Amino acid sequence: MLIVQKYGGTSVGTIERMKAVAGRVVQCRKENNDVVLVVSAMAGETDKLISLAGSISDSPADREMDMLLSSGERVTASLVAMAIDALGCKAMSFSGRQVGIITDTAHTKAKIEMVTAEKVKKALAGGYIPVIAGFQGINRETDDVTTLGRGGSDLTAVAVAAAIKADLCEIYTDVDGVYTADPNIVKNARKLLKISYDEMLELASLGAKVLQARSVEFAKKYEVPVVVRSSFNFEPGTLVIKEDKDMENVVVSGVAHDKNQVKITIQGVPDTPGIAARLFKPIAANGIVVDMIVQNVSTDGKLADISFTVPKTDEKLAISITKEVADSLGSKGVVVNDDIAKISVVGVGMRTHSGVAAKMFQTLWDSNINIMMISTSEIKLSCVIDAKYTELAVRELHKAFELAAC
Ligand code: ADP
Ligand code: ASP
Ligand code: MG
Repeated sequence: MLIVQKYGGTSVGTIERMKAVAGRVVQCRKENNDVVLVVSAMAGETDKLISLAGSISDSPADREMDMLLSSGERVTASLVAMAIDALGCKAMSFSGRQVGIITDTAHTKAKIEMVTAEKVKKALAGGYIPVIAGFQGINRETDDVTTLGRGGSDLTAVAVAAAIKADLCEIYTDVDGVYTADPNIVKNARKLLKISYDEMLELASLGAKVLQARSVEFAKKYEVPVVVRSSFNFEPGTLVIKEDKDMENVVVSGVAHDKNQVKITIQGVPDTPGIAARLFKPIAANGIVVDMIVQNVSTDGKLADISFTVPKTDEKLAISITKEVADSLGSKGVVVNDDIAKISVVGVGMRTHSGVAAKMFQTLWDSNINIMMISTSEIKLSCVIDAKYTELAVRELHKAFELAAC
């Protein structure tokens, strides 16, 4: 088999862990597989680099951030290649550029447009284990280094797997697989043996950081079979695949939470055509992804409030754009709440079963948790609540939808 294996930050967090990874890889190679590795920066390294930049400038240039952040993965790639070499197997490390990972121009959250992988194929043919620095590519216009958004090494792995037509893409992390909720919050969460691309995409987009959402999107598009497993044991893990018949019978397959959103409200804007467009056009033009949007019904037909959520990383920019629009519209003001959490339930069975919303709202009511915003799609239901109730809400919903391990 041709297998792409990705090891996340905790899996390569120390020299001992890198040696353990090298041991697993060499074993896999001995079992007659061809292996390509993708590695993350050592645990905490990317955050450390971000805070170093923050101690120099309030608004460092995105291009420089990418130069800085991409270095973490390169350190790991070369060290892991050395560790494999020390065990007697040939290994060669590569940066994103060397692998031909071409992205768009959106520094710090670039999208992969093409992967040539020539050097990877050549290295494999020469009997080497390629070790690729994850999370990075090259700006197609300027040839500068780009990064792929937080958690982006998952995307590197899936994109490389698609490019070299690997049989499997294994994502090794610090949990055994994808659970019905974050196992670090819900102790009796249950490991899923398999999950559909669509459900995984919703869970990941809604805060389950076990896989980066973009990587799931990519896996779905190119039908890359993905397995999420632990690098700390040999348990089988969770298969992320195309939806099959028995998945539909499960109404809710997981609960996700996301504390990385901020709610912005623009108060008292004219209730006339074109207002929403004037607000959201400049926000989109700045590459900010808006998640939920709620506009209240104005009782007098004259003024309305619009609330929306954006990722905390875009908070400053989104607020300054909103304030500008608010001024130009003569609105009453802009209110920001960054102490919120989005709690979601996800399941393909929601398409054919009713009562999920009622049960979710009742459960939150029973815990006296107020709902600030609601949004739905075919297979998910999300509520924005006060951040201090996050853990309570996740546990109570997990219980109410009977997701626990028996
Ligand atoms: P890595 O550094 O290996 O990329 P991450 O920290 O990005 O690992 O992702 C693994 C973490 O995802 C777990 O430690 C867990 O806390 C979190 N997580 C959130 N939701 C889930 C879920 N539904 N199933 C498994 N893990 C989850
Ligand atoms: N090191 C990057 C991050 O912490 C990318 C990754 O780990 O996937 O987000
Ligand atoms: Mg990750």
